[in-house]
Amino acid sequence: MNMNARMPQADYPSRIGLEQALEIVAACAAQHRLPVETALLAGAHGRVLAEDVRALHALPLFTNSAMDGFALRGEDLPVQGERGFDLVGEVFAGATSAPETGAGQCVRITTGAPMPPCADTVVIKENARVDGARVVVKAGEKAGANVRAAGEDYAEGELAVAAGIPLGAAQLAVLAALGVAQVEVRRRPRIAVIATGNELVPAGQPIGFGQIHESNAVMLAALAREAHANVTVERCVHDEPDALRDALLDAAADADIIVSSGGVSAGEADHLPGVLREIGDIHFHKVRLKPGMPTLFGRIGACLHFGLPGNPVASAVTFRVFVRFALRAMLGVNVVPRPGRARLAAPLHKHHARAELARCSLHTDADGVQWATLHAKQGSGMLHGLAETEALVLLPEDAREFAAGDVVTLWPE
Ligand code: AMP
Ligand code: MG
Repeated sequence: MNMNARMPQADYPSRIGLEQALEIVAACAAQHRLPVETALLAGAHGRVLAEDVRALHALPLFTNSAMDGFALRGEDLPVQGERGFDLVGEVFAGATSAPETGAGQCVRITTGAPMPPCADTVVIKENARVDGARVVVKAGEKAGANVRAAGEDYAEGELAVAAGIPLGAAQLAVLAALGVAQVEVRRRPRIAVIATGNELVPAGQPIGFGQIHESNAVMLAALAREAHANVTVERCVHDEPDALRDALLDAAADADIIVSSGGVSAGEADHLPGVLREIGDIHFHKVRLKPGMPTLFGRIGACLHFGLPGNPVASAVTFRVFVRFALRAMLGVNVVPRPGRARLAAPLHKHHARAELARCSLHTDADGVQWATLHAKQGSGMLHGLAETEALVLLPEDAREFAAGDVVTLWPE
């Protein structure tokens, strides 16, 4: 049965430009902000902070030594020649108190140890000579050196990590250093992955004539996990409207996003648009983009649905362009990924008017100029180019001729 043949005239945007498609995705995704929940720091990696976190206390909390050496009063340092200081004690990192340092006295100190009262300078051990209970320091040392002042990193109350920031290793370190044990974050997105096609057989199973080993579900689920989503479903479905409908409804029940691959073009077995019209809405179908022309975007109830093309490269590229984009909006990410720039290593003729995201490798020359070399294997069914891709070069709509050295935009990560 060909559902497309029964389909009335489309009542949604079709064959739209990339920018318009992204605007539609942004508008829908903004209405599907993920709820906020509390996460322990240990489980917060890759999640997006939902509220500003301010420094609970100054960092460092107390003035401490930046080096191993001797703490003393800067005003006692010799202006010329050398001077001996009385070694009156020691303070190591973790010490709960520090000996008083009087005039002409010094205290042995290690990195991170609290500065003794009255001491304001650390002379590193390599610049001091220990002579019994005396420590001899030569002229040339600077008063106030090698000391980390309380609050010099973060002042108490200062904004430490802003809402909308994805928590990477560095942000987790800041929060931990400030003693923050749990944070308010957006719930992890739940993504259902459905590969469609009668020809698909999972790796490890024997394939017969006309069948292929499935790779999109594996890839899309991995891309979803890389985006710190929970994959709720990862399955293959035959090109049958009933099977497709059941699979989509099942998946929509407990996912925020369904990502499907295949069955979305105009072929006899491409039932997805028809089924989605029946059980949900289509927001757009077909984008003037190569690869990825047949991309469909819609929803089933509260679940967004990206119908990506079956060609593996098209699936990968459109996940990157549309699904990641939607995820950022749903998570309230407030850092805009910066597109890169490179010069084309060779001239190029684009055979069509659509925007193209071409797979390329990058190299930087001795002058620091980055060059993009397009892969020879640009076929949207060819995994080779995908596996070796370092970046996607955006060749804008309508532009056809590109010269070697032309500056091009690299699609942001
Ligand atoms: P479709 O978009 O369904 O017309 O599929 C386009 C091409 O992608 C066909 O050659 C399919 O065999 C191939 N394809 C579809 N789904 C997958 C998949 N999950 N893994 C690998 N190739 C696929
Ligand atoms: Mg198919």
